[in-house]
Amino acid sequence: MKLQGKTAVITGAASGMGKEMALLFAQEGAQVVVADINEAAVTSVVEEINSSGGQAKGVVTNVTKEEDVARMIDTAVNDFGKLDILVNNAGIMDQMLPAESVTDEMWNRVMDINVTGPMRAIRKAIPLMSKQGHGVIINTASVGGLFGSRAGIAYTASKHAVVGITKNVGFQYGKLGIRCNAIAPGAVATNIGAGMTHADPFGIEQAMAGMSLQRGEAADPKQIASVALFLASDDSSFINGTVVTADGGWSAY
Ligand code: NAD
Repeated sequence: MKLQGKTAVITGAASGMGKEMALLFAQEGAQVVVADINEAAVTSVVEEINSSGGQAKGVVTNVTKEEDVARMIDTAVNDFGKLDILVNNAGIMDQMLPAESVTDEMWNRVMDINVTGPMRAIRKAIPLMSKQGHGVIINTASVGGLFGSRAGIAYTASKHAVVGITKNVGFQYGKLGIRCNAIAPGAVATNIGAGMTHADPFGIEQAMAGMSLQRGEAADPKQIASVALFLASDDSSFINGTVVTADGGWSAY
């Protein structure tokens, strides 16, 4: 098992990629803190892990709240004794709003969840990981964090910021034994589109312009969870401060 004896905190772990990461990490021997804002779904993922012989603890967490983020990290330490792996995966889309239409409300909400959330969790995790002399941080970015028009302006800016955070933390704390990497998925079949009820027609047309270049169907979230497992495990021990793109070749054209 790749993560035997490790403790992992995963945000957005009640659905989509985060859920598959939680299930896979537990299968690989990790004790998992399942952190998500969706209480019913947290309970269900925790039950699924514990009933199949794994070890999980749920913490209902809104990553925009400092006290929730603190509780999520504290749970790893208090219940499982340490924090080896932090996955900042919770994120939302932005109704594909282009520059002329984005509202302050949308901008601030997307930034708060997608950017400030990971920063808060990293800020809390680093002292613990530094003291241990090891730790792994994985951020779910997006191809939208590498290219200009895979979503609206707020989501695009937020995922570019996640890439910046990843490189900053990876370099600055690498010497202390902490690795920080990001995954940039292409389209993945999850629930993230469910909230996209008012997609902006101009924005969606622009964001979808390159979709025909994506090879095949949207990925299964399991295909991203396996990348997270690689980054969480010692198999990737010399990989730090970088972004692993998992888009089936979409962005290679
Ligand atoms: P999803 O909607 O299936 O899962 C996201 C989870 O995050 C949900 O369980 C949701 O409850 C949780 N969440 C939302 N706001 C939260 C908050 N404030 N605090 C705590 N939890 C919160 O979506 P997904 O596609 O699995 O998304 C996971 C990550 O992948 C996101 O960061 C997303 O931006 C990124 N991503 C998704 C795709 C895609 O095509 N699905 C592509 C690239 C990147």
